[in-house]
Amino acid sequence: MPANILNLPSYAVTALQENDHDYHVDAEVRQAVTHCVHCKAGNPQGFGRREQMVKDLPMHGKRVGIYVNTRRYRCRECTKTFYEPLPDTDEKRAMTTRLVAWMGKQAVRRTFASIAEEVGCTEFTVRAVFSDYVNELERTIRFETPKWMGIDEIHLIKPRGVITNIQNNTVVELLHNRNKETVIKYLAGLQGKESIQYVAMDMWQPYKDAIELMLPKAKIIIDKFHVVKMANEAMERVRKSYRESLTPKQRRGLMHDRFVMLKREHDLNDEEALKLSGWLRNYPELGMAYRLKEDFFKIYDAKTKEEALRRFAAWEIAVMPDVRDAFQDLIRAWRNWQPYILAYFDHPVTNAYTESLNNLIRVMNRLGRGYSFEALRAKILFSEGAFKKQTIRPKFERRREPMATRNFEMAYMCLERAMPHQPSEPAREINFGADISTLTRLIEAGEI
Ligand SMILES: [Zn+2]
Repeated sequence: MPANILNLPSYAVTALQENDHDYHVDAEVRQAVTHCVHCKAGNPQGFGRREQMVKDLPMHGKRVGIYVNTRRYRCRECTKTFYEPLPDTDEKRAMTTRLVAWMGKQAVRRTFASIAEEVGCTEFTVRAVFSDYVNELERTIRFETPKWMGIDEIHLIKPRGVITNIQNNTVVELLHNRNKETVIKYLAGLQGKESIQYVAMDMWQPYKDAIELMLPKAKIIIDKFHVVKMANEAMERVRKSYRESLTPKQRRGLMHDRFVMLKREHDLNDEEALKLSGWLRNYPELGMAYRLKEDFFKIYDAKTKEEALRRFAAWEIAVMPDVRDAFQDLIRAWRNWQPYILAYFDHPVTNAYTESLNNLIRVMNRLGRGYSFEALRAKILFSEGAFKKQTIRPKFERRREPMATRNFEMAYMCLERAMPHQPSEPAREINFGADISTLTRLIEAGEI
């Protein structure tokens, strides 16, 4: 008899064949059945056999099929017939439980097609196994509801919603789309949503509507990043249309103009600063647009919202008719969202958070190909090694009865017998979600 290459102690291997692609393993269940599976009566009668093929983990780069010579029985009491149950085998599929567990984990990291190819099953089966795996994760892994929540846009095949914990720099959910109904449904099922105090978002009306409906006490904040981005876009509009009016020779003189103009003034090196001052002198419209962009950013240097409001008013007056069209979107957004934009000055979202989220959004674009949204979502939320966790021990509690109030005899007994161990509340593990920086690193390293 060949050695048990399966490393499954509940099976005896009786034969082994292999070709270039596959192992075919003949096996039997080692422990014969002793009782009827229906009525539990002992000593059922043998009633023939049949062959059942069970897929197992790929081995040495080959697909593995186990051909189990399954025993059939008939009960002497209830006369019903039955096949012996197969140990270590998935209830739903002709696969070993270890294969199913492995496929679930693999499907978070790899394409379904490559797993199907390696195991020798259909992509449909991989998808079903993956779906069970994710359901199980959803059931067992619970992320702490953020006190300060972020809702942003992320592009995975198409625009999706990403829900973050701003204080902990983690992702806690990915939503199918950016609709109001989707956000409402998510929040409706969210435990502890009453504890959400702030919600930072981009200027997207459906989000605002959903938050106001579901979290009436939460304060809405528009992150600086989304506002100043519009100032950059406005300047870009001026630059592009201006460029078109120039001769090819003039255009050559404006080498790297986009890169330089998008930089903040205080970040320019000497060479760039020199170039820029030349352009701005020769092309007044570009100068105007650059000045407006820079001055808009400076609104955010204000210490209070009142000061920010004053700076905006002064800035708006300075938007000359020549470039007003290009800056119109920004001015309109400010007017529509003013209280929420100003809320930032009371509760600023840190640059570190905004930057790390934007890095994640950038690298996630690469993930898109070959995966369904569900698979991408599972990669982000459930990749092993990305969770940010914290163990919280219960609060220190004073012992209830000070020694002095006990009588001497009691105290003496306690010392003699050593203090009894009192049961206490167990330590609690909090999972804040998938750490944004870790995710970015794993994606860049091609590990998810
Ligand atoms: Zn029976």
